[in-house]
Amino acid sequence: MKITEDEIRRRVGRFKSVLKAAGIKMTPQRAEIFREVARTDDHPDAETIFRGVRRRFPSISLDTVYRTLWLLDDLGMVATLGAAQGRTRFDANTDSHHHFVCSRCGATRDFIESSYGSLEIPDSARGFGQVERVHVELRGICLACLKKPKTKRLGAFHHGKENKP
Ligand SMILES: [Zn+2]
Ligand SMILES: [Zn+2]
Repeated sequence: MKITEDEIRRRVGRFKSVLKAAGIKMTPQRAEIFREVARTDDHPDAETIFRGVRRRFPSISLDTVYRTLWLLDDLGMVATLGAAQGRTRFDANTDSHHHFVCSRCGATRDFIESSYGSLEIPDSARGFGQVERVHVELRGICLACLKKPKTKRLGAFHHGKENKP
């Protein structure tokens, strides 16, 4: 799903005011890194963001991208998600929403379901601390992965096929 230009503008506008309120300088690199997260609902990881930003800022380092992403996280401009392969993914959607996560490739999609907001919090969970928000994560296999034959993951073995006598 593509994020509309209006929504990207809204997100970038909010980013500018949050930076200003925090007394942090807006730099072209910071703007570009945030835009890279804000323009998609793919929940990209840092390396994907880095590859996108590098097209416009060839001298940017992965380290700068990481530091900026953690700054965005501190400012509440992005949320972080743990996903497949242990890579942190970044989410610029700060509205209340839920996720469908592919357990094979880690692709993460947003969905909205207002009834989840009224989920009863069990006492066993309340015992851990104060609940601030409810986020439901559905796990499954995404459509793209469902289409791929399972053996594709063992790609290395495939290549030997032609060599068979
Ligand atoms: Zn998948
Ligand atoms: Zn999300």
